[in-house]
Amino acid sequence: MRDTYLPYGKQWIDDADIETVVNILKSDYLTTGPNIIDFEQNVANYVGAKFAVAFSNGTAALHGATFAAGIGEGDEVITTSLTFAASANCVLYQRGTVVFADIDSKTYNISPTEIEKKITPETKAIIPVHFTGQPAQLDEIHALAKKYNLVVIEDAAHALGATYKGKKIGTLSDMTMFSFHPVKHITTGEGGIITTNSKEYYDKLVQFRSHGITRNPSIMKENHGPWYYEMQFLGYNYRMTDIQAALGSSQLKKLDSFVNRRKEIIKAYNEVFEKISQIQIPYQLPETDSSWHLYILKLNLDQLTVSRKEVFEELQKLNIGVNVHYIPVHTLPYYEQLGYKKGSVPLTEKLYEGIISLPLFPLMQDQDVEDVIEAVKLVIGKVKK
Ligand SMILES: *Cc1c(COP(=O)(O)O)cnc(C)c1O
Repeated sequence: MRDTYLPYGKQWIDDADIETVVNILKSDYLTTGPNIIDFEQNVANYVGAKFAVAFSNGTAALHGATFAAGIGEGDEVITTSLTFAASANCVLYQRGTVVFADIDSKTYNISPTEIEKKITPETKAIIPVHFTGQPAQLDEIHALAKKYNLVVIEDAAHALGATYKGKKIGTLSDMTMFSFHPVKHITTGEGGIITTNSKEYYDKLVQFRSHGITRNPSIMKENHGPWYYEMQFLGYNYRMTDIQAALGSSQLKKLDSFVNRRKEIIKAYNEVFEKISQIQIPYQLPETDSSWHLYILKLNLDQLTVSRKEVFEELQKLNIGVNVHYIPVHTLPYYEQLGYKKGSVPLTEKLYEGIISLPLFPLMQDQDVEDVIEAVKLVIGKVKK
């Protein structure tokens, strides 16, 4: 078997990326220069949105979105618990209340029916997460948003390059967040972005990203001269550097080929795994085209004599860097302290017990893919009833 460890995700940096970054280091602007504007334009063009605002990371971008949406104390925001903590934390940063709605057990995405059950007069927004890269049921979610007058912020950290009913994710809701962490589709080291078609959200996000400060005379209360600026609300320093932005633009050119390679790997996995009754391959809604951030195998625990933990440990021993996405957010100790209870989203909790994420990144070689398949067959075979 393998003598080197295969991680579950990894960036792909080539010589063009390196040259781009070195050139920025030799230039005048390391931050807040022309590369930010370029990168924002490039991402906006790629997804087909009017505006994009780059942030220091995806979490900061989500915080910008909950701020721009006007979330405050007493406001409720509905999201899924089967996600990274940041999808929910961005509501707490604004002193809002997170409400978890259960998933659809087929797609693993937040269920529109469950969302509607959680709507109250206090509900202000919905944050669907496109789990693993498969878009959530956006038509149904937008219908609820219209009916109850809610803002929709897509957490598309997994879904750059994905489409819903033929349209790229990034233009369909009020705001959409993408992350450029190294395990995501393209990377800037750390980085994130909000895409939107709203000039109002765009202006708020830009100001929020830089301390709440503006130099725009048309919105300042006074103007004492060319040096003058106003801090109009409490913002943060959530700016991306030009070094990161230039890397992002260079990476973006390769996004489609990265996604295609991910799809090739998925195809190879599915072809073998769909024939093994002890495991279940991911289900895809016909109206979605996933960009495949993660590949999740669901273990049919009733057909196995061992636990998920044993399968996980056996695969790790074979140098296959499996992972689990995610520990449901409402069961994390901080959320338990806030009063969230186990049992509140049963389908999410049940799914969590049986899932394992397999390695998936474009730089994986065919031999790596083969190694993962052989290891899974071996481990599942060994533990068969
Ligand atoms: C990665 C991720 C984030 C946060 O992005 P960072 O850039 O790491 O801050 C948010 N939500 C989900 C679902 C993610 O996977």
